[in-house]
Amino acid sequence: PLVLGIETSCDETGVGIVRGHTLLADAVASSVEEHARFGGVVPEVASRAHLEAMVPTIERACDTAGIALRDVDAIAVTNGPGLAGALLVGVAAAKALALGLGKPIYGVNHLAAHIAVDQLEHGALPEPCLALLVSGGHSSLLKVTDVTAGVEPLGATIDDAAGEAFDKVARLLGLPFPGGPHIDRVAREGSSVYVDFPRGLTARRDLERHRFDFSFSGLKTAVARWVEARERAGEPVPVSDVAASFQEAVCDVLVRKALDAAASQGIEDLLIGGGVAANSRLRAMAEERASRLGIRVRVPRPGLCTDNGAMVAALGSEMVARGRTPSPLDLPADSSLPVTSVLA
Ligand code: ATP
Ligand code: MG
Ligand code: FE
Repeated sequence: PLVLGIETSCDETGVGIVRGHTLLADAVASSVEEHARFGGVVPEVASRAHLEAMVPTIERACDTAGIALRDVDAIAVTNGPGLAGALLVGVAAAKALALGLGKPIYGVNHLAAHIAVDQLEHGALPEPCLALLVSGGHSSLLKVTDVTAGVEPLGATIDDAAGEAFDKVARLLGLPFPGGPHIDRVAREGSSVYVDFPRGLTARRDLERHRFDFSFSGLKTAVARWVEARERAGEPVPVSDVAASFQEAVCDVLVRKALDAAASQGIEDLLIGGGVAANSRLRAMAEERASRLGIRVRVPRPGLCTDNGAMVAALGSEMVARGRTPSPLDLPADSSLPVTSVLA
């Protein structure tokens, strides 16, 4: 099926077009620069930017794919989770297209779409697989038996998301927003063993209750204390060393727990998705440690890890292929849609 997917859950206006597992277009307009001076995404600014970018981004995607809108078999749209006002813009646009073209609409879960996108790069998803979903708002370990029907959460962060930790630590180190890519970049010049930062929820007594859960707020505080102590002593802060040491602590815990979860379920395929999956150290570490255990790792290319419309089209295409019932035309946007409810 030829599916057009719309993504507006945060600050990216994404329109993707796929045919089956083949990516035809992935147009993204981001309002990130408008938010940078506030140090975080401003919901009202994001909604307005989506409104302005929506039609041109749809046109750009159709041009790139070389298709006319009437050729599309179905419209897919992120209907949650995300910023309420931002989601509404995408859902309204998708409904208008579906109604105008007389085509079915599929509301899809943004988090499941972060997983499904990998099929555009590596073919049909291995199911069941273990998914490590690490993004700006979520950090979860999920057992995926059918990406169009449901995922089973094995664990999640009990405080900050991994991406949130990257962004907060970047800010502390004076790096621009969003900080993840900047930490990734400066860490390449630094030493990952410069500071031995804490690995949250890995102590034996934590493992009893939180074997597959994450905690990153203690790590963020540890970095803040370390930086403050240096500044108080009037010494310079070695930004790339701190960034590399912080990144190592995050990746170590993510990979360790993901591989433990896969092994505990007897699953041999680990899929990593979400914006933090773009991180070069996380990708390398996962590959290296998984290969020792005979576990296969799949991570989409960095451009497909951060928010985009292709991921929505990918999941929509799977919904069509697997005969899922389309959503009603009065499909609501749900800002707090849980990861477990893939079907709208
Ligand atoms: P969610 O998917 O939970 O709704 P979101 O959609 O806002 O959140 P994504 O676009 O999936 O988030 O991911 C954005 C996050 O990924 C940001 O926190 C950003 O710093 C982080 N990120 C992006 N690239 C990298 C990288 N190379 N290294 C580490 N973090 C990164
Ligand atoms: Mg973004
Ligand atoms: Fe996302």
